[in-house]
Amino acid sequence: MEETARRVLKLHGFREIRTPLFEESAVFTSSLGEAAEIVTKQMYLFEDRGGRKVALRPEGTASVVRAFIEHGLDKSGGLTRFYYMGPMFRAERPQAGRRRQFHQLGVEVFGSASPYQDAEVLLLLVRLLKGWDVRGWVLKLNSLGCRQDREAIIEQVRAKLSPHRQKLCEDCQVRFEKNPLRILDCKESRCQELSFGIDVSTAVCGACRDHFEKVSRTLGRLKIPFEKDPHMVRGLDYYTRTAFEVIHGGLGAQNALGGGGRYDDLVELMGGSPVPAVGFAVGLERVLMAQETSSGAAQGAVADRAAAVFVSTAGSDITDGLQWVELLREKGIPAVANLEERPLKRQLEQADKWGFQWVVIRGEMEREKGVFVVKNMASRSQEEIPEKMWLNVLQKRLNRS
Ligand code: AMP
Repeated sequence: MEETARRVLKLHGFREIRTPLFEESAVFTSSLGEAAEIVTKQMYLFEDRGGRKVALRPEGTASVVRAFIEHGLDKSGGLTRFYYMGPMFRAERPQAGRRRQFHQLGVEVFGSASPYQDAEVLLLLVRLLKGWDVRGWVLKLNSLGCRQDREAIIEQVRAKLSPHRQKLCEDCQVRFEKNPLRILDCKESRCQELSFGIDVSTAVCGACRDHFEKVSRTLGRLKIPFEKDPHMVRGLDYYTRTAFEVIHGGLGAQNALGGGGRYDDLVELMGGSPVPAVGFAVGLERVLMAQETSSGAAQGAVADRAAAVFVSTAGSDITDGLQWVELLREKGIPAVANLEERPLKRQLEQADKWGFQWVVIRGEMEREKGVFVVKNMASRSQEEIPEKMWLNVLQKRLNRS
């Protein structure tokens, strides 16, 4: 998965950034918002030996923005494209699709406020999902408006929910005061019923509406299917304008594969110059779960196996085997040598179990005859090849399979 992602990301002009696994907790509290659940409930917080407050990173964007500012990239005026891949940590109750340590792939594009940039980032997301052979996903899109619209949106949500406040769940009673937008993605059915029909996009200004229209139109022309979801809000405070989420029906209750959006104010909020930005993060374990629901992944695994060769050395020197696999690897052919002193039959059983499609056999008999045997484990056919030619012949067979 990671290799596929790196190939796609390179084609899209992204470079890797690696941020620390833990940072001063203020990096997260100042960017994600003090009231965000990821901060109040899910962040692993520690004091180190010097009494400094540090946190295991719960997500990637805050650290990337911190590094972006620290290295003066906010002053460079160009377009910067970063991706990251690695573990994130959230102190949640584990369940299917929800772990305390999980892996995300994220991208961040700094320096463009254009709606076409939003569409291009979504095109990348779709390319990644295609590269991973994930099918059956649904892209949901909404506009959360700009900083100036935020008050109007919050007021609208409060006004609609205020008569029913007492009926909200306990968490949402607190959210009503601190972070009313989050009520819209509460999983409790009573809160969902009460907030049903609230459309945040009606409270956004003309310029933001125009931006959203351009993103939608561009996605249409790029043939990227999406659904407008005026009810969708993202968990974090920093999103502005475009917000999106990719969900998958095969994942159960935790159905989000990934999400993201625009965050035009975050760089400035964290102490840098104002630089518009857009990005997303995908949960890699959830992508694996979604892959398992489609047959494409199984085919991919078989294709991986077909390329690999096991070199069996019953009756000949295991060290010779180590040299032969090196010859194969130099030609870019993945290969593993037998390392145990055991009979040929056991070696072949092992190769079969590990899923190698090709086995090269060089035992005592083969040595006497001056040949290598190349065996196709799928068809069970085998051929004897003069020792000078075995490498070339095997390479030809692999190219054909
Ligand atoms: P978020 O940063 O919350 O928008 O998460 C982005 C993506 O990361 C989600 O859509 C999930 O695929 C994945 N994710 C978030 N939290 C978890 C978790 N606790 N365990 C596994 N995957 C997660």
